[in-house]
Amino acid sequence: MSAPDIAAALRSLPSVDELLRRETMVAAVSAHGRRSAVAALRAALEDARAAAHMGSPPSPEAIAADAATRLERENAPNARRVFNLTGTVIHTNLGRAILAEAAIEAATRAMRHEMALEFDLATGKRGERDALLRELLCELTGAEDATLVNNNAGAVLIVLNSFAKGKEAIISRGELIEIGGAFRMPEIMARAGAKLREVGTTNRTHLRDYVEALSPCAGLVMKVHTSNYRVQGFTAQVEGAELARLAHAESVVFVNDLGSGTLVDLSRYGLAHEPTVAEAIVEGADLVTFSGDKLLGGAQAGFIVGKRDLIARINKNPLKRALRVDKIRLAAIEATLRLYRDPDRLAERLPTLRLLARKHDDIRRMAETLASSAGAALGEAFTVAVVDCVSQIGSGALPLETLPSAGLALRPWKPKSGRALDALTARLRRAPIPILGRIEDGALILDLRCLEAPEEFLTALAQTPSDEK
Ligand SMILES: *Cc1c(COP(=O)(O)O)cnc(C)c1O
Repeated sequence: MSAPDIAAALRSLPSVDELLRRETMVAAVSAHGRRSAVAALRAALEDARAAAHMGSPPSPEAIAADAATRLERENAPNARRVFNLTGTVIHTNLGRAILAEAAIEAATRAMRHEMALEFDLATGKRGERDALLRELLCELTGAEDATLVNNNAGAVLIVLNSFAKGKEAIISRGELIEIGGAFRMPEIMARAGAKLREVGTTNRTHLRDYVEALSPCAGLVMKVHTSNYRVQGFTAQVEGAELARLAHAESVVFVNDLGSGTLVDLSRYGLAHEPTVAEAIVEGADLVTFSGDKLLGGAQAGFIVGKRDLIARINKNPLKRALRVDKIRLAAIEATLRLYRDPDRLAERLPTLRLLARKHDDIRRMAETLASSAGAALGEAFTVAVVDCVSQIGSGALPLETLPSAGLALRPWKPKSGRALDALTARLRRAPIPILGRIEDGALILDLRCLEAPEEFLTALAQTPSDEK
């Protein structure tokens, strides 16, 4: 194109003001505000000028549409809902537990209204926020007293800091765990000011190892639930009850970090038994720590339950203030805990348990119902088959336990085409509600255990752009 033609093409481009009067932009301004609409138009005009230089100036409507698309993209929330079809039910990277309706209502109420958070309505005096949960937690665990902090990592930190600062924390070498996301027991101990006193070996630790380590320097004995792995074969570990007796004879605090921790006997719902908090208390633990958003199925929190005098010392630790839980989560957790008072209906009401307890036949039936529509939505290049698979609980609970499940296996027609499979995985991530599965044996497996909205899933699948834009 000649220089005068380019100049003419550039002159033909509309101004920001003209573009703002177009219907597309009037709608965009009302949705997103004038300021970001103008910024988006400027960016779109810049691209339009570049195109004009190349000899193909876009139409005013194309420029407005480009700006509107930019605005949509910028204003889409970063916190995106996804379909978790990975087969891992409590998935830390996908936000762990989804909450019960009762918890959602309670949290919404707490967000919308003022509430008696640290205010005792009986006396009209200042109250404390933990009081909202104390009785419930004691009832459900059999403990004397209870407190809570931001998460279980925080619970372990504050316990160590309260009882082993400048002293030794005695722990088996087989339990020096790392939980994903850089939570490593030795490092937490160092930050808490406790001196790590490892005893035993990776696979075998005996009571005498603890006996030898106990000295006046000891602040506490800690047992950590090896929640995300199992040491199998030639192994030995000391039961909580024995450790409790030993620690008490030496007047040392005995702490049991249960990790996931559950409040009910899961075997009741057809799952393997996982130690309950109440059992750990009966065994003699002075303090038990556990998470709010793992098996318990509530919001993120770290619970500490146990002896009254010890909980009082934790509550006086200045770290408590730094680790405290906000009103929204407190409300959600209270509502979640209340559901545990009626174990008969728990599996209906608590999503985590409902998903974990779902039967293979039920999931398989769903897969059979969805397979052909899913195939139609994906198009010719892929096959969709109903398959049996296994789910896992996730977040460290019962790491070796698998749950028989079923799902859809998506395979590219071209056999062994790793690239096509990667492209398909990426494509499903671009769905309006991203769909996440797992790759196994040359297929993308969508485990349907956690799918409770099949219609939405099909809609999302059908609306997935097939190539990158
Ligand atoms: C998960 C886990 C933690 C950390 O709990 P968060 O709630 O994730 O902070 C600590 N200890 C054990 C044994 C765990 O399994």
